[in-house]
Amino acid sequence: MNNAAPTPSRGPQPVVREITCKSVLNKCSIGDYSLNCYVGCAHGCAYCYARYMQRFHPHAEPWGEFVDVKTNAVEVLEKQVRRMAPGSVFMSSACDGWQPLEQTWRLTRECCRILIEHGFRVNALTKNALVLRDLDILARGSARLAVTITTPDEGLAALWEPCASSVAERWQILSRAREAGIETGVMFGPLLPFLSDGEASLDALFEAATREQVDVIWVDALNPRPKVWESVGALLRSEFPDLEERYRRVLFAPVVRKAYIKALGEWVRRAAAKHGVLERLAGCP
Ligand code: SF4
Repeated sequence: MNNAAPTPSRGPQPVVREITCKSVLNKCSIGDYSLNCYVGCAHGCAYCYARYMQRFHPHAEPWGEFVDVKTNAVEVLEKQVRRMAPGSVFMSSACDGWQPLEQTWRLTRECCRILIEHGFRVNALTKNALVLRDLDILARGSARLAVTITTPDEGLAALWEPCASSVAERWQILSRAREAGIETGVMFGPLLPFLSDGEASLDALFEAATREQVDVIWVDALNPRPKVWESVGALLRSEFPDLEERYRRVLFAPVVRKAYIKALGEWVRRAAAKHGVLERLAGCP
């Protein structure tokens, strides 16, 4: 198996703290369980919805600039799997389990191994090519490996997701997973209003998904989740000042938002139909 190095971090190095946890496998609305070996995520995506976590885990640093490592995650999981019924596990709901620190800590890898060995299904979602290191484990049991792609444009991705792997590397993950016999998925979301939700972008995204024979496709619109506007607004003011007001309306003006979501759904379904993958569209605005 390929032992891919993670994409070198393009942003500031996070403040890292070692912590312990009492439970790591938790009930979840997306599937049966979720599992997060880290609190915080160094990928630094401007639209990250997991920022709300900071309410429960206060830190002096802003979201994206700290990561707490649950050093006993593997030991805790070993105990939990003995008393919990097997089910599907979302890896991960509030961080990227394959963010750069995982190269050293290998907690997500070990947790995947334990889950698979105990008959759980792993539903992995990542933006980091480090996951290629763990294809051997995912291929051993019931697993789906999905990547998030919000734009086909590498320059835009580097702005919005500064420390994640490149778009090309993320497609490569799916290609390698398929070769390894692992079910694959892609989350196109959040699509960036007026930047990656147009016909050309959707065409490029669905063309690539078709080329990679992705098993399941989800699409999501940008949502006004708590704390998201702070960082999205700051990025817009710095890089796309003309779009700030338009984003504000799409996110917060109910009539505009309703019309936008309806139109986006139509654009997405049209692109999926054009490429013959409408039946693989599992989620759409
Ligand atoms: S990879 Fe996911 S969890 Fe990490 S910063 Fe980006 S959106 Fe948030």
